[in-house]
Amino acid sequence: MRVAVGGIHIESSTFSPHTAGLADFRIKRGAELLADSPWAAAHPDLELVPLIWARALPGGAVKPEAYQKLKEELVQGVTEAGPLDGFLLHIHGAMSVLGLDDAEADLAIGLRGALGPDAIISADMDLHGNVSLRLARTVDLLTCYRTAPHIDEEQTRQRAFDLMMRCLRDGVRPHKALVHVPILLPGEKTSTRVEPAATLYREVEAIAQREGIFDASVWMGYPWADEPRCQGAVVVLGEQAGPVTEAALELGSLYWSMRDRFGFVGPTASLDQAIDQALAATDRPFFISDTGDNPGAGGADDVTTALARLLERADVQGCGRRIVYASIVDPQAAATAAAAGPGATIQIKLGGRIDPTPPGPLDVTAQVTAVVEDPDGGTCAALAVGPVSFAVTSRRKQYRLRQDYERLGLAFDQADIVVVKIGYLEPDLQAVAAGWVMALTPGGVDQDIRRLAHGRVERPMVPLDDPSPDVRLQAYVW
Ligand SMILES: [Zn+2]
Repeated sequence: MRVAVGGIHIESSTFSPHTAGLADFRIKRGAELLADSPWAAAHPDLELVPLIWARALPGGAVKPEAYQKLKEELVQGVTEAGPLDGFLLHIHGAMSVLGLDDAEADLAIGLRGALGPDAIISADMDLHGNVSLRLARTVDLLTCYRTAPHIDEEQTRQRAFDLMMRCLRDGVRPHKALVHVPILLPGEKTSTRVEPAATLYREVEAIAQREGIFDASVWMGYPWADEPRCQGAVVVLGEQAGPVTEAALELGSLYWSMRDRFGFVGPTASLDQAIDQALAATDRPFFISDTGDNPGAGGADDVTTALARLLERADVQGCGRRIVYASIVDPQAAATAAAAGPGATIQIKLGGRIDPTPPGPLDVTAQVTAVVEDPDGGTCAALAVGPVSFAVTSRRKQYRLRQDYERLGLAFDQADIVVVKIGYLEPDLQAVAAGWVMALTPGGVDQDIRRLAHGRVERPMVPLDDPSPDVRLQAYVW
């Protein structure tokens, strides 16, 4: 048996002015890609053919030439590989490409053309992805994570692989039912550690265990793209069309019934309220998530709104505490700081070059306190204005690890207030946070999705509309 493996994995916001090029992707090929599929070794009669797997930090829409190049390499790889029985497709499901709708379906259709109608395509996805009718129709099998934060990426890839092997071995193609659920939830409301998502994903597990059911999945959907496909989705795979349809409608109805119950995973506030809370806090360090420009969800990473408030508020500048801000991507400012070196005072224009969300570029006079080469952020500098120290990077970077801060001399143990472009706190930050609030700041991944100008998604859509009486969920069955 011969099965190819590969894919393109990025979550990209069409509301973020950032655009992702080839340089934003880390591409695995050959042995490196095979090493990510260790479970294939359990099948000695299987030849796994590694093509390419391109992964990127979430960002803005992918440049069309970058997408086409990756797609061509995958499609050509299939053609050159000779006859294949299957394709294990690693995709996120929320890749936006400039000028192209429903990119993952476009990719799957391209691969189907090269594979022929008989090969089985099995897709593993992020639960924050989307499932269009075209995608569900084109691939044979599709499944997604059951946890957020995602701790089951590896298990999900293995499940997609095992499903495919089962179908190849038994010579079956399961029936497949798709149900769309018209809900758009920001990522910070979809944690499966808390209700109602915890119950929803427990039910996914329960339905997947039913007699005759092969697999069940719920996609929360991706709210930061303005595409007709963006909404929640349920897919159930199994032996018979009737039970598969029934189970998909059951899960879809459960998700829909929970629509008013999804809340933020932590306390939220406006930016100024969040700063007020941080200044009033006695335990340290107090963390503020600057959520609207979170590069981990697709933000441009150079919105200056929160930094500007820290620099202009007199009560912050005179507070006598130590405040750390991470971060702003600005290669020119980082280069200026690096050239001047630690100890120098520089005048720069900072940020707002990619995403001009007000106030846009800041005129800053700051002291350089550190310059380092960072594996992700490139040349990075720590700058200080009064009590505020902030990180400037030459590549988009999320400050989610302790060492990210320490490398720049911004250790958060010595900080009173840490403001960081992130959503929920990652483990290193969570471990030391004495207090925390998510500031609902503007940017490409604004958590208040009603503030974004969606024009192309289906309507009615929660929370853009208040659909009442209930919408009727519909099942597509193959
Ligand atoms: Zn996700």
